[in-house]
Amino acid sequence: MNDKQNSQLEKEYNLAWDKYTDEDLEKVFQLSERYIEFMSKCKTERECAREFKAIAEKFGYRDLADLIKEHKALKPGDKVYADKMGKSLALFVIGREPLENGMTILGAHIDSPRLDLKQNPLYEDTDLALLETHYYGGIKKYQWVTMPLAVHGVVVKKDGTCVNIVIGEDENDPVLGVSDLLIHLASNQMSKTLAKGVEGENLNVFAGSIPIKDTEAKNRVKQNILRLLNEEYKITEEDFVSAELEIVPAGRARHYGLDKSMVMAYGQDDRICAYTSFEAMMEVKNPEKTCVTLLVDKEEIGSVGATGMHSRFFENTVAEIANLLGDYSELKVRRALTNSKMLSSDVSAAFDPNYPEVMEKKNCAYFGKGIVFNKYSGSRGKSGSNDANPEFIAEIRRIMDKYNVTWQTAELGKVDQGGGGTIAYILANYGMEVIDAGIALHNMHAPWEVASKADIYEAKKAYIAFLKEA
Ligand code: MN
Ligand code: MN
Repeated sequence: MNDKQNSQLEKEYNLAWDKYTDEDLEKVFQLSERYIEFMSKCKTERECAREFKAIAEKFGYRDLADLIKEHKALKPGDKVYADKMGKSLALFVIGREPLENGMTILGAHIDSPRLDLKQNPLYEDTDLALLETHYYGGIKKYQWVTMPLAVHGVVVKKDGTCVNIVIGEDENDPVLGVSDLLIHLASNQMSKTLAKGVEGENLNVFAGSIPIKDTEAKNRVKQNILRLLNEEYKITEEDFVSAELEIVPAGRARHYGLDKSMVMAYGQDDRICAYTSFEAMMEVKNPEKTCVTLLVDKEEIGSVGATGMHSRFFENTVAEIANLLGDYSELKVRRALTNSKMLSSDVSAAFDPNYPEVMEKKNCAYFGKGIVFNKYSGSRGKSGSNDANPEFIAEIRRIMDKYNVTWQTAELGKVDQGGGGTIAYILANYGMEVIDAGIALHNMHAPWEVASKADIYEAKKAYIAFLKEA
């Protein structure tokens, strides 16, 4: 065996940038432009679900709830979506093969770490109005102070009307924020650990400082804020009880790097996989097997609740689809689920030259080396992971190479350094083939996360390939 043949035995993970023609590069940058627009606009699970629904309808998708009401039969080629409480979506393109042969599924989550307003958030202290928060998902609390924050969400009034609120995104809007101590008074704080330097209970958001005119009144600044909210949104203090108001970083997603090769945005975990999966899904026409894209809520707090992956939403939806296909039985639904194949997409950690010590360099993700496949996630001896089957991984390799997709494999950091969970293991409970896939980030769970545009492009290509071939 000569040296050249010998080198073919070694596996090299290449940079996607190296294979791009000028035409490819244009497509890479066009996709990132669309992605940046989406990320600038959609910062909550509701906003994502609403936007995805609106786009899907333009692509000919119909609401499953309407089809059920109309007793409308489904046939191959039909496009349909199911919406769970405006926070989770399941999109289907009906395949030519019977549903019980299994589906080809993409999955990702559309909730992201943030600060949620408490039920009774508004209070006044020393003539300043503040909002109490309870953080959602895993955050480093010290990262959320002294930065412009926006409010996104809904207030549902007692009569059922739902008021949409977005404050802090228009350049004429005010922004909110959480304060931090000046360095000159921080000697105690600076001696604490990073985990304790800023406490969760102290993540109170500043909301105002002008009092109402009545100098005899109590809580004059708070009252003024309530007056403003009432004028603008016709809400009262009690309406906060039935609200979902999320405090998120204010401002647009941006190109990142002097060469604009990356994207900086809030909420890329996991909207980066949701967006690319969704774009791939919109390109599906008349597939052999039924294609599905699942975009779910509540992953960051354990996939709980009616809109999280642990709920029966997806299973029930598959039953409804089988019924509209005129082919429902409990057994057929079970077969459809167990015979399915899934790319469960969530973000990976990209190698960061500033923090090399947490990574094992042969088994971590790198910017520009394409979509990441994780055979397993989990922590402390793979605990809590979906350990994908090598038979399935071999199939994925074949599909990716056939479509010239740049891909890499990774673990989340060194053994026993940490770890994480996704929705993969939940779908695997049905007995289907599932592997964790996704895009690598810097700054995961920080207010502003970073991703490579090449990886975004390769992920979309991978999803298209999987939907066509798996
Ligand atoms: Mn995630
Ligand atoms: Mn996460």
